[in-house]
Amino acid sequence: MADAAIQAQSADARFRVIVETGALDLMLSNTRAAKDRETGGILIGHIDNEGRAVIREATGKPRGSIFGWYTFVRKTAGLGALLKRRWRENQYYLGEWHSHPGMPPVPGGQDRSTMRAIAADGAYCCPEPILLIVGGRDGSREISITVFLSNGDAVQLR
Ligand SMILES: [Zn+2]
Repeated sequence: MADAAIQAQSADARFRVIVETGALDLMLSNTRAAKDRETGGILIGHIDNEGRAVIREATGKPRGSIFGWYTFVRKTAGLGALLKRRWRENQYYLGEWHSHPGMPPVPGGQDRSTMRAIAADGAYCCPEPILLIVGGRDGSREISITVFLSNGDAVQLR
C-alpha cells in the first residue's frame, strides 16, 4: 500500500477512509496556489479488502470551472474520460474535495445539498460519496472528511 497521509473513521468504525500522500499533496498544493479563491476537484480510489475507502488520487480544477470566493461551479470537462480510464484500473469516483480558504472545514448548506444530489444520482455510481474539505490557511490547515448517505444522513469521520 502507498503512504497513508490521513486515516479517519466514523465513531462506529463503519466508514473508514484512507487518503494517500499523493492525493493529499495535490489538494494542499492546489489550495495554496488558489490563495483566497475556493478550488477543488474529485476524489478517485477504491475500496480495499478491509472495506476501507482508499483515496489514491485527487484531481485539480477541470477546464471550464468558474472560481470565486465561495462559489465553485465545476464543469465535468475531461473528467468523464479520466474516470473511464481509471475504471479500467479499478479506480473509481469516490467523492469531492474543495477548499474553504481561511474558514473552518465545515460542510455548508450548499455542500450538503450537492453531496446529497451526487448520492442520489445513479450516473455517479457512488451512493455514499465522500466530501473532503481543506480549511484554514497555510501553517494551520484543517481537514474534514464527511460521508454522505443516500438516506440524507451525513457522517463525520475523525
Ligand atoms: Zn464547502
